[in-house]
Amino acid sequence: NSIQPQRFFKYADLSVRLAGPEQLNPKPDVNKLSFGKYFTDHMLKIHYYEGMNGWQAPEIMPFENIVLHPAAKVLHYAVELFEGMKAYRGVDGKIRLFRPELNMERMNNSAIRVGLPPFRGEELIKCICRLISIDQEWVPHSTASSLYIRPTLIGIDPTLGVVASDSALLYVILSPVGSYFKPTDVQVGVSLLADPRYTRAWPGGCGNAKVGSNYGPTIQVQQEATEKGLQQVLWLYGENNELTEIGAMNVFVVCINDNGERELLTPPLNGLILPGIVRKSLLTISRQWNQFQVTERIITMKEIIQLLSENRLLEIFGAGTACAISPVSYIDFQGQGLHIPTTEQPEPIYQMLKKYLLDIQYGVIPEHPWSLVI
Ligand code: PMP
Repeated sequence: NSIQPQRFFKYADLSVRLAGPEQLNPKPDVNKLSFGKYFTDHMLKIHYYEGMNGWQAPEIMPFENIVLHPAAKVLHYAVELFEGMKAYRGVDGKIRLFRPELNMERMNNSAIRVGLPPFRGEELIKCICRLISIDQEWVPHSTASSLYIRPTLIGIDPTLGVVASDSALLYVILSPVGSYFKPTDVQVGVSLLADPRYTRAWPGGCGNAKVGSNYGPTIQVQQEATEKGLQQVLWLYGENNELTEIGAMNVFVVCINDNGERELLTPPLNGLILPGIVRKSLLTISRQWNQFQVTERIITMKEIIQLLSENRLLEIFGAGTACAISPVSYIDFQGQGLHIPTTEQPEPIYQMLKKYLLDIQYGVIPEHPWSLVI
């Protein structure tokens, strides 16, 4: 009865139970996908039990409901976290993931923030690749669509009490998705509500972790935006009304700086924003291109208004996995309607970055160190 060391799960222990022909679902029309409505035929599950040496063997099985005790911690204290990644079917027919190791790193950081057990990212990537290859026909044959991957980790202890959960379930589900916004909205740009009465994250909080508790409370504000005919929320922080994020995207600004040069700005990783994988990638690409200045620093609404009044604000855009790169055309801020000329620039930076990113993701650049071919 020696205590065994906590074990990590391994891809080598994966078991697969395939759905029978009667359990397979028809695939939706690629033109009617929208976001997160349809799910594939299989899912991945991995349990964790503290008293049984930790992580158990991974299992792929037919997609099914999960059964939870009504006291399960996830249902009361949001002891949970998730990730959002995509598999893209390239122009060469190959299926690619984009920098999945970064999602694994962020997932482990989020897990630690809510007292859930960490795991070896490379093992989960291998399990996810197997799941996708089983459901590969669900990866849309289209460069306007992709297969969204939602790894989720929940605390399932059947006990009330705000303490670490001794049992957990990691599962992964897959959903074929089209564009997050309507294609016309992407052409004309998205409109934003910037209301300083609300904030999404604060110093010492968990805005830099992808935990469910960051998202539920944004819904009311998003509803207010929708009621005003605006599409997304521009999240502000503090007395200076610092720009932090756009909905579930990181925010970027392009301006003419005091030296008359083009400069790409984005808020720093100071705990108030999610460290986006697209954000990180755009910064790296921009620094490699070396065609404009690139700066991570605090940006305030006062500065945005000042730049606009001097015709020095060129672009604002959001960047993230679900919505790719979305230009902003309008901000409603304290009763002022700010017209943002992002889509009116002759050669906007957001377009150049978007094309380069899509070329990597859809295999137009067939071999890139950021692509993992399944
Ligand atoms: N900010 C928030 C709040 C998000 O939920 C997301 C989506 N994960 C992002 C930014 C963009 O992150 P990523 O580039 O990793 O998709």
